[in-house]
Amino acid sequence: MTRTLRLSIGGLLAACLTAMAPPAAHAGPADLGSTVTARLQTYAKAADQRGLAPTAQVNVLRQSASGWAFGSAVLTASHTEDAHPLGWLFLARRDAGTWQVAFEGEPAFARLSQQTPLADTTEKRLFGQLGGNAPAFAGGDYRTGMRLPFAVGQSWYMAGGPHGWAGSDTPYSSIDLSGGDGRVLAARAGTAYTMCGNGKGWIRVIHDRGYATDYYHLFNNIAANGLAVSEGTFLGNTGTDVSCGGSANGAHVHFALRQNSAYVAVSGHNYGKWVLSQGGSAYAGYALHGSTQVNAGGALYNYGALALNQGIVDTFGGGTVNRRSGPGTGYAVVGSIADGATFTVACSANGTSHTGRWGTTALWNRMSDGTWISDAFAWTGMSGPINGWC
Ligand SMILES: [Zn+2]
Repeated sequence: MTRTLRLSIGGLLAACLTAMAPPAAHAGPADLGSTVTARLQTYAKAADQRGLAPTAQVNVLRQSASGWAFGSAVLTASHTEDAHPLGWLFLARRDAGTWQVAFEGEPAFARLSQQTPLADTTEKRLFGQLGGNAPAFAGGDYRTGMRLPFAVGQSWYMAGGPHGWAGSDTPYSSIDLSGGDGRVLAARAGTAYTMCGNGKGWIRVIHDRGYATDYYHLFNNIAANGLAVSEGTFLGNTGTDVSCGGSANGAHVHFALRQNSAYVAVSGHNYGKWVLSQGGSAYAGYALHGSTQVNAGGALYNYGALALNQGIVDTFGGGTVNRRSGPGTGYAVVGSIADGATFTVACSANGTSHTGRWGTTALWNRMSDGTWISDAFAWTGMSGPINGWC
């Protein structure tokens, strides 16, 4: 059960606190609420600068008699364009009558997650990545293993190309998707949470490798408080929900990428075998499937997730590229593979050097059938080997 404490940042704080029921001795919700709200205030200034006009919302999802609490802390936004709420999972521990509070992304969050009885084994593993010791996968590794967040085989409109979580802010972490059957599905397996106090509109799924995805404006969404989801699990329908603020014109999902507890640019990452590329302004940009380019506003066919040991052939113009019997053009041509095709990498080795869309490289990939393709004519999400050296 979710208990929501709505506390305004700033002048209304005292009035809201008085309106609440008196707290129980040593463990009152007001104590926890005001402590989490105080922490939110440290994030509120930056939010204010983005015109969010934030109000603090502390949603307690779980609490233990032994003095632990877990939930979401949200800065709601005004109902205007270019405003979106900000939210963090939090953990709190009561010690000698005071609450120690940690948000996702703070080192204490990872530490407390290993101690709390409120997190299960899966959450301890995921939350352990969401603190100061988070591995920096962004260092040249753009593999997400994610599909587009709807049924494989459907085409939905990328109504908005890469843009900020709040719209024109950076990084351009988000895309807007609409159409199809309107059923929004998890892009990859993970653990799901509803972020808004009323449980509506906004779901965050924490994945492996430090990634998370946010889904906003959902209608008829599932209830999720640490719910294990698979790739393709139904999360909700596209909608116009603005329970935690912001605005939505027409039913869609505002789909955002996070890594190590912060929004990150989607550009260079892959969903459903489409590599996103941001434009010069918010909502512009395009997606590439091999050499096939779809601009913002166009329809993206969901090819399904590209596995972490797979690549997409990108001949940098279309057509086919040769398969060779070894890692270089001195080896025999033993076939070809078409632009846009998916291949699985067994291992990689250096050979002759070639230049494609993504640059010049001497790397070659040995495919699962034993033939080789130059890494210059593929997108794998890394410039180095994705499945080890041969
Ligand atoms: Zn959006």
